Amino acid sequence: MILKPILCPTCGTTAIIKAGITGNGKQRYKCTNNDCTTITFILDYTYIGRLLEIKEKVVEMALNGSGIRDTARVLKISTSTVISELKKTASTIEIVDIIGNRKTGVTTSAMNFFRDFS
Ligand SMILES: [Zn+2]
Repeated sequence: MILKPILCPTCGTTAIIKAGITGNGKQRYKCTNNDCTTITFILDYTYIGRLLEIKEKVVEMALNGSGIRDTARVLKISTSTVISELKKTASTIEIVDIIGNRKTGVTTSAMNFFRDFS
């Protein structure tokens, strides 16, 4: 029998407590690190749009010029998830154009951002 420690997907701490059962019968966990942005998580999400790797790919694809429907089709998640993730991360993204102008945030799609920028 092998015991595998449960780590928070955001901060990596092992200070995790059980936090109930989801509607699908999966165990929900809570990160007790006060500095962590993740409140609760489960280990095997049914919907892959909830995975941290997918969320990072959404931002990456937006910065490379992919539109919302393009991103949703490639990552096999819904357009609502793409829009939601872009809105959440918009304030943390800073893009510098060729001239050196700085602008923080993205609009509903990367294409709109570049249209607004020019
Ligand atoms: Zn955490």
